[in-house]
Amino acid sequence: MDSRKVLGDDKVALVIGKMTKGCNLCFPGLKAVIFITGLCGDSCYYCPVSNDRFGKDVVYVNEEVVRSVKEIITEVERQGANGASITGGDPLVRFERTLRVIKCLKSTFGNSFHIHLYTSGRYATPDALVSLWKNGLDEIRFHPVDNRYKKAISYAVKLTGMDVGAEIPIAKGLEGWAKEVIKDVERLGGTFVNLNEMEFVESNANSLLSRGYDEDVKRPFTVKGSLKAAIKVLEWASKNASIDVHFCPASFKDSIQTRNRFRRLAVNDRRWYEKPTPYGTLKWAEVLDMGRLKISIDDIYKYKNHRIKIYESHPTRSRKPIVYEEEL
Ligand code: SF4
Repeated sequence: MDSRKVLGDDKVALVIGKMTKGCNLCFPGLKAVIFITGLCGDSCYYCPVSNDRFGKDVVYVNEEVVRSVKEIITEVERQGANGASITGGDPLVRFERTLRVIKCLKSTFGNSFHIHLYTSGRYATPDALVSLWKNGLDEIRFHPVDNRYKKAISYAVKLTGMDVGAEIPIAKGLEGWAKEVIKDVERLGGTFVNLNEMEFVESNANSLLSRGYDEDVKRPFTVKGSLKAAIKVLEWASKNASIDVHFCPASFKDSIQTRNRFRRLAVNDRRWYEKPTPYGTLKWAEVLDMGRLKISIDDIYKYKNHRIKIYESHPTRSRKPIVYEEEL
């Protein structure tokens, strides 16, 4: 097998081959993240899902709680997304809900609206996979924490036309598992494996510490050694695998993907008096002695003799200010 090059940058992405369509849309903030349920039949020690979501049957679109399919569509429209990533917990625990959401996204935004889904594969029966595909799912990423779940990869390849691959975290000691998953995906006919930098967050910190993992002070919120382990696996894959392998750094999610999504949301959903900033926030002002009249920060000069307060918030529905500036 010819050796292939590892391309990219350890803060954005390291890739052998190419990234999936789902990842390419995620980069510029074009994917809405639909957290369909916090329920999951597995309990991985490294699970990064926050305590207020894991094990709870809650639905979010990006940072917003939603209570109906209609509200999901509204949030996706607000972002101006071209695709969605359906995640959890395990979305297949709430299979009917997942199916309804996929159907509704496709009928509202059209066939070109790209949808990918993450699942452990525990509940991925042949019938479930065919239904997901027939209703519009484009890409599926298995997180095969148990060898028995791997047969779902082969069902998805044989019975559907979806892009099929795997997504697992990587850290010191997991290189062997990662290589095995890459070889299994290749053998079963899948086309990609995503290696996520292992996150070190409040919800998994104790569990990771008890297993000897620690936070990397140079790469905050990640497990020390994760990048090094990823590079080892990528180098091995460049000589021993023919499928696409992609390492996704945690800092990419936080600083690039989320900021790009916020920037897009801010421009798409701004009210007439709000001004988007390069950081993905919105700024506006209020004239306090005119009944808190909202004005654009560009018009402050027109209210010289009035009491003005400036606000800045993320483009969330509540517009809860993250910064108040001094009254002028
Ligand atoms: S399968 Fe995924 S969501 Fe479920 S416990 Fe493991 S890491 Fe968390």
